[in-house]
Amino acid sequence: MSVLLIFIDGLGIGEDNSHVNPCANNAFTLFNIVKSDIPKKPLPYGGSMVSIDATLGIEGLPQSATGQTALLTGVNSARILGYHKQGFPNNKLRDILRENSVLKKVVEQEGKAAFLNAFRPRFFQYRIEEIVSKLSVTTVANWVAGLSFFALQDVVDRRALYQDFTNIDLIARGFKMPVFTPHEAGEILASEAQKFDFCLYEYFKTDHAGHSQNMNRATEEIVKLEEFLMSLLSRIDLDQNTLIVTSDHGNIEDLSVRTHTKNKVPAMVWGSNVIQAERLHSLTDIVPFILERIEYMSRSETKENKNVGSTLEFYHGKEVIPCQ
Ligand SMILES: [Zn+2]
Repeated sequence: MSVLLIFIDGLGIGEDNSHVNPCANNAFTLFNIVKSDIPKKPLPYGGSMVSIDATLGIEGLPQSATGQTALLTGVNSARILGYHKQGFPNNKLRDILRENSVLKKVVEQEGKAAFLNAFRPRFFQYRIEEIVSKLSVTTVANWVAGLSFFALQDVVDRRALYQDFTNIDLIARGFKMPVFTPHEAGEILASEAQKFDFCLYEYFKTDHAGHSQNMNRATEEIVKLEEFLMSLLSRIDLDQNTLIVTSDHGNIEDLSVRTHTKNKVPAMVWGSNVIQAERLHSLTDIVPFILERIEYMSRSETKENKNVGSTLEFYHGKEVIPCQ
């Protein structure tokens, strides 16, 4: 059994109020998520959804650095720091990631793991050590696992996706890239996920849309995600893969405020033993859940080889990037 974790930044469970919550919309199949629906009716493709706490028992609004570290390590990093840290991880959070990154744990078990977000050329112009203070949690989690980073050519070759899986942001920046529909991007991710014991994909335009307080922009993000995930679900083999979709904190579900929220976040789970999703109560429960689900196929040599692709070798000791 392999696991694919899709981390959607800033997606909480809000009120049933379509004036402030783009998810309070019956047109959505997956993302029509409001507080009164929890516990949720079953999801398509046999999925299950629970709500999990993102406040980590610490006062104040949950933030990305501590929330994502908790999500990708299982360690209550906000409790260790004593506060919710915004933006990028500091030394202490990087230490937690260095010890406990889920990607590293999988690699230590001789599993095949990948962070499937591709990076722009600028990222590869630096050594990681030079830019470490500007790296997001996901990037650090991949780096400390000793894994390589995917580049834009990997997107062209359909081995990875950019953080904007349509590539439209890249094209606007002048990169020559194919446009992917959300449907195509979902197909690519479904195909790639089956090559790994564990892989991670991060989508953060939801958080930006939440901060913008713009309902049209927020709704567009949810529409894209819905198409992306429904396509992924139609392709992925749920007998062989567990799919987990979750977030680090609320934001987009309440456009009446510019900040993050203290709302719970969804944890959607597909695959066999989906009923065990009911054990998920907090961000820190996700990593133990992932590690229990993985049956390391690469150990039994059912995968042709441990190298993922050209970029893997290309990375070690090479230069890395501050922004995707
Ligand atoms: Zn934010």
